[in-house]
Amino acid sequence: MPDQNKPHILVVDPSASNRALICDCLRQLPEVRTIATGDSEQALHLFQERRPSLVLLDTTLHGTDGIALTRKIRAWEQSRTEAGISPWTPILFLSSISDENILTEGIQAGGDDFLCKPVSEVVLLAKAQAMLRISTRQQEICEVHRQLKEIASLDSLTGIPNRRHFEDTLSIEWKRCLRNAIPLSIVISDVDFFKQFNDIYGHQAGDVCLKAVAGSLSESLFRVEDSVARYGGEEFVAILPGTDASGAYAVAERMRQSARDLSIPHERGIDGRISCSFGVASTRPTTEKFPQQLLQTADLGLYAAKSAGRNRVALNQE
Ligand code: GH3
Ligand code: MG
Ligand code: MG
Repeated sequence: MPDQNKPHILVVDPSASNRALICDCLRQLPEVRTIATGDSEQALHLFQERRPSLVLLDTTLHGTDGIALTRKIRAWEQSRTEAGISPWTPILFLSSISDENILTEGIQAGGDDFLCKPVSEVVLLAKAQAMLRISTRQQEICEVHRQLKEIASLDSLTGIPNRRHFEDTLSIEWKRCLRNAIPLSIVISDVDFFKQFNDIYGHQAGDVCLKAVAGSLSESLFRVEDSVARYGGEEFVAILPGTDASGAYAVAERMRQSARDLSIPHERGIDGRISCSFGVASTRPTTEKFPQQLLQTADLGLYAAKSAGRNRVALNQE
């Protein structure tokens, strides 16, 4: 196993000789690396940099005590919450004073277990192994949770974000654009004569077509903050934060051309090829307005594009 992938144990103890003893003992564990410090500020820094799998902490640290350091570590972990789940690194206290009050305070601050010094090697190694096991399971849970979140936000047919993801993103971007006093635009698109496409070429060919259209619409967005989702059926919706009406119109026109350039044959389509229609709406978010209104405005634009003959973009001004 490469060194950087081995689990790290952070040992924080004010005494250099104690640190050396503990680290020597821990190195008996297979595939473990130790890092040690006697300084609580440096300990926090090392924790953030190296992301150890276990922390062994003396409760009588210089400067700020081990319990205060524990609170800082837990607060930092909380701030790292990703997709609704925050990491939890086991913290094992080592103390030369056997005091139930310190034990209680330590556990309440976020510690996981408490050992009184002097600790036998056997007990220290056994406890460290148990804690590392919890740490590994915790990392696995975080990873599975992250993957599930990702899957839950994607449309299974096209692989692009789904409607739920779109709604979350719209709400986040609405607030961001409101805060930064910048415009926000929406582009809704719908494949033209798609029912007939299914009727003529079959549902499977329809699915292949939707995948290709989704890909072409995604590739038409160049800014990292722009995104397109499958809104449902053969409808797609793009969010363009910081883009005004004329910019959004230009993006929608690029999307329209890109879907058209796929040149998917459709004998009942416009000029024998698949096309899409687009509705564009743009606003400057305020506390009096709602994202849903922007969506409705774009939807009316789409309706206008359909009525005007399809394969076109209609900008619906507020
Ligand atoms: P318009 O030009 O007015 O948009 O007409 P249209 O035929 O595209 O619209 P309509 O709403 O009548 O039909 C939409 C069709 O899209 C009907 C439905 O079977 C098809 N559809 C929706 N979701 C899927 C899908 O996941 N796969 C396939 N193959 N077809 C789908
Ligand atoms: Mg439709
Ligand atoms: Mg349609």
